[in-house]
Amino acid sequence: MAVDLHVHSSASDGTDPPGVVVAKAAEVGLSALALTDHDTLTGIPAARSAATGLPIELIPGVELSVDHAGMKIHMLAYFLEPTNGPLQDRLAELRSGRNTRNQLIVRRLNELGYSITMEDVLHHAGGDAVGRPHIADALVESGAFEARSDAFVDLLGDGGSAYFERMRLTAIEAITLTTESGGVTSIAHPLTITADAATLRSIFEALRNAGLAGIEAHYAEYPPAVRTQLAAVAADLGLVATGGSDYHGTGKPDLHIGSGRGDLVVPDSRLEELRRRRP
Ligand code: AMP
Ligand code: FE
Ligand code: FE
Ligand code: ZN
Repeated sequence: MAVDLHVHSSASDGTDPPGVVVAKAAEVGLSALALTDHDTLTGIPAARSAATGLPIELIPGVELSVDHAGMKIHMLAYFLEPTNGPLQDRLAELRSGRNTRNQLIVRRLNELGYSITMEDVLHHAGGDAVGRPHIADALVESGAFEARSDAFVDLLGDGGSAYFERMRLTAIEAITLTTESGGVTSIAHPLTITADAATLRSIFEALRNAGLAGIEAHYAEYPPAVRTQLAAVAADLGLVATGGSDYHGTGKPDLHIGSGRGDLVVPDSRLEELRRRRP
């Protein structure tokens, strides 16, 4: 059986409500789905109730953007209950950091001649983790761009003319807080880290020593040969080779739940390996 361990809903910047994401995952025959919205667990209860009565397991998770020695890394954290806890309690601060950053972006866009308001942005958000994709949606609605991704090219993307940093945990903090909360971590789309193979390996090794459980070797947007290479590195370092589609609904129109661009298969054994790493 196959699983998908990286999926977004409208609780953050996906476009399908959590229940719809779960229904779609069950429809394509996945045995488990991890809902990993950015900085929020608010989609989990609805996803869980949708999974009740369907032949699919819902793994509660979250995706964090963290800092490691000046590099931006995305970290997936799994088995986190939507209750209070060491990591859970920090998520509210991270969301508040998003709001501060979003206001700076909207103000800059206004200076650049784009007339959108924070209200327009919030109109596109379905939950409490609001971000650049929703700002992009407001820009599209205003007629400035055709698609979400077009707004990232010069304006919203890292280093773009309307880009601002937001509050981040360090990678070590994220791993430690997740462990203290009963969860496990995996580095999302690990090739976001632009480094040569030896440096990459030493980063994985250092974070493994801090408690990291896996790396997302089977990422939908990586070619099969790259996934195989990353899985070999994971095995060599004693890390779990996790995988997922990074489904965002119409926010990333080419990516499908479970199968990514059509060639992704993440075996359920990867989820079982992760489960065995729970503290
Ligand atoms: P934020 O979390 O607010 O900093 O925004 C980052 C999110 O924007 C990522 O999680 C992606 O979902 C989305 N994103 C980043 N780059 C692009 C892009 N070029 N096109 C579309 N969406 C993007
Ligand atoms: Fe996203
Ligand atoms: Fe990511
Ligand atoms: Zn993601």
